[in-house]
Amino acid sequence: MARRPRQLEPDSLRRSLIELLTNFEQHLLESELREQVRALIPANHLLRDLGSSLLPEGARLSARERILSYLRRFPGIVIDGDELMIVAGISEYARRIRELRKEEGWPILSGITANEMRETNDEGRMQGENEEPFPAMRPSQYLLLEDRQDRDAAYRWNRANQIRRSDAGVRDKIIRYFRENVGQRITSEELRYVAGDKTEWARRTRELRTEFGWPVITRNTGDPTLPVGTYVLERDEQAPQHDRQIPEIVRREVMRRDNWSCRWRGCGWPHGFPEQDHRFLEAHHIEHHAQGGNNTVDNLVTLCNLHHDEVHRTGELHVD
Ligand SMILES: [Zn+2]
Ligand SMILES: [Zn+2]
Repeated sequence: MARRPRQLEPDSLRRSLIELLTNFEQHLLESELREQVRALIPANHLLRDLGSSLLPEGARLSARERILSYLRRFPGIVIDGDELMIVAGISEYARRIRELRKEEGWPILSGITANEMRETNDEGRMQGENEEPFPAMRPSQYLLLEDRQDRDAAYRWNRANQIRRSDAGVRDKIIRYFRENVGQRITSEELRYVAGDKTEWARRTRELRTEFGWPVITRNTGDPTLPVGTYVLERDEQAPQHDRQIPEIVRREVMRRDNWSCRWRGCGWPHGFPEQDHRFLEAHHIEHHAQGGNNTVDNLVTLCNLHHDEVHRTGELHVD
């Protein structure tokens, strides 16, 4: 059956739909199964057109464009897959979302990946005063992390695919991907993909920071200005040996105690600094770990990376 040309006006679509459903009463009473099914086809088309017509310009956009247009109206808000089905007029919206991510670079987080992050305790759960709760999501839900397109995404996803197919371990694949993208915002969806969709991606990513001393920063672990679900390898360099192996729970407690700010005398980043002043927070051992200093909250202090560097350059720690 040929598709009717699209109508544009939601209310005329609504009226046509009511008319069809009203006439369907007769089919219910009299028709055979096949006839009943065929009589519902135009109603199905009308319903899809009605959903599409709710977006301004919706009827002129492709299904993928409608999904994007809808998500961009609600950045940071959890959206049900069923809503996307309505505005897109298609049920295979999940594939379009993958295309939007990989080909166009929109940071769209799925509920599946979000839950893997929560379970690793990297985001969400243990929230301090300065941490925003990470929303709980069902597997069929989606979240546009920020209304910001990453135009290098196609290239990055292509590299992600090559690394994914190499036979390195998950952690090695992830750090390799980070090191090719130093300073760039990497989404959890990319990391999961690089890891071959293995759920351990979140745990391995955390270990890179906590055990191997790579400065992999999230909003809850060093840069409060980052959106949720975003990771940045701040520099292509592991922390000095003595600052590695800090358990996540201790690091968090240290940063909470220090009000998520640099303790260096007169610094206090990020409070009072413009957002563009891009640094990140690290935990520094007062008595160096390698020289017997403990991994305790008392032996650690929060510093921004500039002052952390300064401490290691000069050997002097000036904190209030
Ligand atoms: Zn240090
Ligand atoms: Zn500082």
